[in-house]
Amino acid sequence: MAKVQVSVVIPVYNEEANLAALMSRLMPVMKDMGKSFEIILIDDGSRDNSLTLLKGFVSDPFVRVVELTRNYGQHAAIMAGFSVVQGDVVITMDADLQNPPEEIPNLFSVMEEGSYDVVGTIRKGRKDSFLRIFPSKIINMIARKITGVSMRDWGCMLRAYSRPVVERMIACHEQATFIPALATVFAKRVTEIEVVHEERFGGKSNYPLRKLINLQFDLVASFSDLPMKLIMYGGILMSLLGVCFGALLAIARLVYGVRWAAEGIFTLFAILFVFVGLQFFALGVIGEYIGRIFREVRKRPEYVIENIYGAKGNGEIN
Ligand code: UDP
Ligand code: MG
Repeated sequence: MAKVQVSVVIPVYNEEANLAALMSRLMPVMKDMGKSFEIILIDDGSRDNSLTLLKGFVSDPFVRVVELTRNYGQHAAIMAGFSVVQGDVVITMDADLQNPPEEIPNLFSVMEEGSYDVVGTIRKGRKDSFLRIFPSKIINMIARKITGVSMRDWGCMLRAYSRPVVERMIACHEQATFIPALATVFAKRVTEIEVVHEERFGGKSNYPLRKLINLQFDLVASFSDLPMKLIMYGGILMSLLGVCFGALLAIARLVYGVRWAAEGIFTLFAILFVFVGLQFFALGVIGEYIGRIFREVRKRPEYVIENIYGAKGNGEIN
């Protein structure tokens, strides 16, 4: 079997509006690179016409399509793609053309020339709403702290990984994961380059607020216990404040008498609501960890492959 130098892995969830444009831009780029390549497209349980369109691409010998049984999420879908890659360098990207395929040759050559394990990317002039960009700045800051790796942009999925890093990631079998962060656990030589970022070509984002918050939790909670530590320190600080407040009330009572102490009762209610709210929040964070432990101990597969189409001769269904 011929050696594959580059594998491109693309998760697809309800992207019928983008697939034709994606392939018509990606194919010429890959053919012009002059490297042996394969393109792995993973259908992550799309409810639209994506899978039918994808199957239409496998007549090309360089394309394989992995069909999952249901929607497992972007990162699990990429892992499913990783489980069948053959390339020495594995590049991930989105299907909606927010990551221009034209950046792949540069990404590949940086990877090769520097013998890197991971090449990340920074989205130049990011084409997303302020409501996406601002929280992502905070998340990037947290990610740097958690991983100890000073990458600037953790959210851009146009990235290159060496094959050994990919293999180590697959071996983890994590239920909830965030691939760029997981990769840093196994990568020694890491760098970051700037890439162009575009508007989504067609259709709409697959990340409603709920899914987005969950994804950020996958990054923060699956890689550290920082939120629990924050709660602990916050709790210590709050009880110290409580002691000071109590002392203040006791002094005021001694100096001004009983009446004064009863007057601030509504302010006290307001403060109480804040603290009760914070306690529920803290319980929620702990619940999030317990939920994650629960899912891990059940040991269900992170994804299930229904079918693989394409690349005749590799034993896969065509
Ligand atoms: N995606 C996926 N499964 C999901 C959600 C998204 O495979 O459950 C894919 C999607 O098809 C796209 C990529 O992940 O290729 C990024 O998704 P999207 O563009 O919706 O995210 P955004 O750019 O809005 O963050
Ligand atoms: Mg997108």
